[in-house]
Amino acid sequence: TQACLDAIEGASALNAVVTVTAERALDMADAADARIAGGDATAMTGIPLGVKDLFCVEGVRSQAASKILDGFMPPYESTVTANLWSSGAVMLGKLNMDEFGMGSATEYSVYGPTVSPWRAQGSDAKLTAGGSSGGSAAAVAADLCLAATGTDTGGSIRQPAAFTGTVGLRPTYGRCSRWGVIAYASSLDQAGPMTKTVRDAAIMLGAMAGHDEKDSTSADIPVPDFEAALTGDIRGKKIGIPREYRVDGLSDTIAKQWDEGAAMLRDAGAQVVDISLPHTQYALPTYYVIAPAEASSNLSRYDGVRYGHRAKLSAGDGITEMYEKTRAEGFGTEVQRRVMLGAYVLSAGFYDAYYRKAQRVRTLIKRDFETAFADGIDAILTPTTPSRAFALGAAAEMSPVEMYLNDVFTVTLNLAGLPGISVPSGLSADGLPLGLQLIGKPWEEGDLLNTAFALE
Ligand code: GLN
Repeated sequence: TQACLDAIEGASALNAVVTVTAERALDMADAADARIAGGDATAMTGIPLGVKDLFCVEGVRSQAASKILDGFMPPYESTVTANLWSSGAVMLGKLNMDEFGMGSATEYSVYGPTVSPWRAQGSDAKLTAGGSSGGSAAAVAADLCLAATGTDTGGSIRQPAAFTGTVGLRPTYGRCSRWGVIAYASSLDQAGPMTKTVRDAAIMLGAMAGHDEKDSTSADIPVPDFEAALTGDIRGKKIGIPREYRVDGLSDTIAKQWDEGAAMLRDAGAQVVDISLPHTQYALPTYYVIAPAEASSNLSRYDGVRYGHRAKLSAGDGITEMYEKTRAEGFGTEVQRRVMLGAYVLSAGFYDAYYRKAQRVRTLIKRDFETAFADGIDAILTPTTPSRAFALGAAAEMSPVEMYLNDVFTVTLNLAGLPGISVPSGLSADGLPLGLQLIGKPWEEGDLLNTAFALE
């Protein structure tokens, strides 16, 4: 814990950690020592973790990297973090992210951008650590913590993991409680572990997961021993390679690593087959209708009355002016864009054309996966991202739609509620990490982790 706190102090240039809870960390580490001495430890006891700023931690500033939650100190603890603390894990602090989880570069944050610890060969240009869990990914990659929590609504665990050479697991929707995780898009949000290895992800998921009465969408099914599933034996497993993921603009190196990953699984005794997920091309537009729709509804609670920031008002301003001024000052541009987009697709005149249509397509996308699994496929192998990490600041030059294209491989499984993992697959031509994604069957994270273990 002390080594991590020192590392955090020395790595302020990364801007990965936004709140350090040093005193609490050292107290928790002492308690962990006592627990270990008492013979009552779990594999997580004494493990120093970083927590994405989206998780409410009692008495610790939790702002979802937004000005609108300025100084918000939750009077309660998210279930996932409560589970981690009861396993004996140690809290080091809160990690940077895109405001409310909206973004792919951790540049849309009230705390300023996170910088990746990686540099391309022969270049000093600062790179993104991905987003929205970019602070978590950078902190794990730079050894500021042993692991971190992330959330994944449309790739925010897997894409930053791919960009930083770390492992990121998004569990089945309902595996981890969403209670106390600040909401972005409730039907897509899911918390998960960001770690250095597949084994760490298996251990940490076991500590995070479980049924919770406080979240009606959390599943009442047992949490198996995920670590025990890591046998490395994948003989007879059937791995699907979806042809629709060979998109234009996929880098040659990534295409090559995808083939090599398939070959590794084949060598380990799996059967690798081509499959089709015919509605893949509609996933991105579907996601960017549904996620903003849910966001506009979830974010309506930030009104200047109940939490955080409230705009200074002028004489004669009424309640409407208070809402308008507070929300205009409190939300960043990307969040405002999503709220407007969401309100538009939910509005009476456009609901059928956009929102209802998107829900229908979502069902078709889900069915594509169900069909593949019904045909005997155990897991699906794809790249995590179409390119390596881009330069910091590139987001400002990209159009919003170009930015959204980054999520082309990751959003599909969120729409279907499925688990997915990104594992490091090697380096780009200029020496930057890349990742491969495995998509698994619902509730089969053990199997998924074991396949990822064979790829590691
Ligand atoms: N880039 C996606 C978005 O902005 C990622 C969201 C997420 O998983 N939190 O919506």
